[in-house]
Amino acid sequence: MMCWPRPIHHCHLIAPEESKTVHSLPQGESWSVHKFGGTCVGTCERIQNVADIVVSDPSQRKVVVVSAMSKVTDVLYHLVEAAGSRKESYIESLNLLLQKHKETARALLVEGADLEKFLAKLEDDIRNLQAMLRAIYIAGHATESFTDFVVGHGELWSAQMLCAAVNKRGLSAAWMDAREVLVVTPTSTNQVDPDFASSETRLFDWYARNPADTIIVTGFIANTPDNVPTTLKRDGSDFSAAIMGSLFRAANVTIWTDVDGVYSADPRKVSEAVVLSTLSYQEAWEMSYFGANVLHPRTTLPVMKYNIPITIRNVFNLSASGTKICRTYESTDDEFRAANSVVKGFATVDNLALVNVEGTGMAGVPGTASTIFEAVKEVGANVVMISQGSSEHSVCFAVPEKEVKAVSKALEKKFKRALDAGRLSKIEIVPNCSILAAVGQKMASTPGVSATLFDALAKANINVRAIAQGCSEYNITVVVNQDNSAKALKAAHSRFYLSRTPLAVGIVGPGLIGGTLLDQLKDQAAPLKEDFNIDLRVLGVIGSKKMALSHSGLNLSNWRSTLKEEGEEADLEKFTAHLCCSHPIPNIVVVDCTASSDIPDWYYPWMRKGMHIVTPNKKANSGSLDKYLRLKELQRKSYTHYFYEGTVGAGLPILSTLQGLLETGDKIHTVEGIFSGTLSYIFNNFHGQKTFSEIVKEAKAAGYTEPDPRDDLSGMDVARKVIILARECGLKLELDDICLENLVPEPLRGCENVDEFMDKLPEYDQAIAARREQAEESDEVLCYVGVVDVLASQGRVELRRYPKSHAFAQLSGSDNIIAFTTARYKKQPLIVRGPGAGAEVTAAGVFSDILRLASYLGAPS
Ligand code: ADP
Ligand code: ASP
Ligand code: MG
Repeated sequence: MMCWPRPIHHCHLIAPEESKTVHSLPQGESWSVHKFGGTCVGTCERIQNVADIVVSDPSQRKVVVVSAMSKVTDVLYHLVEAAGSRKESYIESLNLLLQKHKETARALLVEGADLEKFLAKLEDDIRNLQAMLRAIYIAGHATESFTDFVVGHGELWSAQMLCAAVNKRGLSAAWMDAREVLVVTPTSTNQVDPDFASSETRLFDWYARNPADTIIVTGFIANTPDNVPTTLKRDGSDFSAAIMGSLFRAANVTIWTDVDGVYSADPRKVSEAVVLSTLSYQEAWEMSYFGANVLHPRTTLPVMKYNIPITIRNVFNLSASGTKICRTYESTDDEFRAANSVVKGFATVDNLALVNVEGTGMAGVPGTASTIFEAVKEVGANVVMISQGSSEHSVCFAVPEKEVKAVSKALEKKFKRALDAGRLSKIEIVPNCSILAAVGQKMASTPGVSATLFDALAKANINVRAIAQGCSEYNITVVVNQDNSAKALKAAHSRFYLSRTPLAVGIVGPGLIGGTLLDQLKDQAAPLKEDFNIDLRVLGVIGSKKMALSHSGLNLSNWRSTLKEEGEEADLEKFTAHLCCSHPIPNIVVVDCTASSDIPDWYYPWMRKGMHIVTPNKKANSGSLDKYLRLKELQRKSYTHYFYEGTVGAGLPILSTLQGLLETGDKIHTVEGIFSGTLSYIFNNFHGQKTFSEIVKEAKAAGYTEPDPRDDLSGMDVARKVIILARECGLKLELDDICLENLVPEPLRGCENVDEFMDKLPEYDQAIAARREQAEESDEVLCYVGVVDVLASQGRVELRRYPKSHAFAQLSGSDNIIAFTTARYKKQPLIVRGPGAGAEVTAAGVFSDILRLASYLGAPS
């Protein structure tokens, strides 16, 4: 066997007379264990800070487990890898490590025996490492024990430096090379099992030789029963601390790191994540197993036996009380009391592949599953999750991506006969997967948790590839495409947690309506966030020439100048890609504020990408019937929402009223109304004092008409609204099917320009005046209306006469009025009335659709 360099002993000197007495380890609650992670001891100043925390801890006795300075373990692994691949670069890297530790020690200790002793030991270690790495370089290969020996040096150095710093502060401390005490047995799955009995015996021996009240221990490293140096594997110092906690029977273990505690999700991925004040051991285990790397997954195991609580604390924020992990927690925390808090946290594991073994020959054949997992075990792969369909026709499990090749080979070999005979149909590998786990002890007893989780994922348009609910029922795991991992985490977290429903918004057409909408969004963003928990972020605005994109949200107080001065050339492809994929916000809505007939062609790709659509643009719903039906079909299949209240009557609740009636089982007979604000204005003022053409002129001057009033008088706009309502009622009509009375006199339809039209219009005043007078004689007025006659499957747009007592005759200004005659509202139609045109009210209608969408997506309502 190779002879390992002997670790140096404690730097606490024992007086000769003391050494004669046998010091028995006083196990029990007088001990507190602290563990400081790599970032806590990343620089000289940070080590000073840690030394201060250790010294000021009032506990009677302390064990301080310490990680390597941050990044040092990574560098050591790279050294081994470089030497093993015969790259000379390891020499330089090793030198840099030597310099880093020398400089830190000098800055920390300044001078004195402790410094000299440490530097001598450091140089000695580096010489050994040089020899060892040279051997690895020559062999072109490193064994696992060689690697473990090399990579453990970071902890040896950091622990000695911290010990010297604590001693320098006058607190007498001994340092322990954990390899002298900790005995672990490597397992087949790249893990180690602590041998608590042997470790305890060695600890008693060690303590008899080093009876200190403050002990600084190396994290991460240990010995095998044969005294071969090994490690507790990556991030293992947390585990070291927990083992020490149990060996000392400590009162508590505090794990110091760089965040305020365990968050409800990885705070780097979910900015709204909250610190959990308490977690049960089980919950902490599940969270860390499924990727919350704030804690090594095995940390809870050693302390559970003695009921020792673990507290996760932030070394950079002593005012935060951290997360306490213990057997049972009291539900005193706000987040637990919140309705949905049965799910404590979420975590993701990336870089997985799904293996799906399928075939009818598996049903009822005992041992298939065990054969599968035997094959997996033989190649040493780690199964992260298993899910079996109850039909027994398929077994599906997730393994790390890097292990999947070997797994699939082993399975194909094992099941060759079954595959040849067709009993197994396939062994399918789905690469590029991630697991999303929802963790919470109370999930088992709470119905609806999975439904809510799946709903949140579906609404974010995330495809779930496999599902498993652990038998413990402390977790539900779903497998999703890795590309969706961050989005899934955000969607699930925001649905269950107190955090806001984020909605990414893209605005197409920042003209009159779009611009007004952006201004309204600016004014309402803060109250929406604070009062309604809806976080709207405009990530893109695109006009016909320019567009402005942002990853976190455009500043809406100066969007006009941003677009004008910093905007790039408008490109709908790029705009779409940006909205869809450049951010982790799970829900995206595109708001089409144009009147274009081309933009609706984009609705299809947007929906396919899971983006919701809100629009006041009439073109999509009043275009060809075939396109309309395809759009509705796609909307259903893509689980997206498509809201278009603003297409009829601006912000008035016309479509939503109609949908409400239909959904509650009412039968619509007719929908009849004055849908054009312009024509409403014209006929509301047509009482005989002024001629028709004079009123049109006035309306034009006041900006109530389109630039060419023929666009209003043609009735086409009303016809489009009629077709939208008709289709909503289930009628399969094309725009051509609408009987349309065009108010532009036939000869003037071909006028070259507006002025010519306006000049000639008075020639036709007589005809329309005659119709008005006829109506007047019967005490009636003229109204230009749109009618959907559902019973006759017809749509009409025409000038109709109504008695002066009729609701339509009472209209003023440019108001719209719509009457629904239905099975329920037969005698007295249901009437909606109000301003039905103008940028403010139209934008408000669009805004209210956006809010409706947010509430459909889970915002509190
Ligand atoms: P240390 O070096 O102190 O052991 P780690 O880097 O191993 O620290 O773990 C702390 C990090 O874990 C945090 O900086 C954070 O980014 C990450 N992390 C991932 N998931 C979570 C979570 N749910 N709660 C808190 N931190 C998390
Ligand atoms: N230094 C080791 C690592 O980086 C152990 C730890 O810090 O937990 O993996
Ligand atoms: Mg860690």
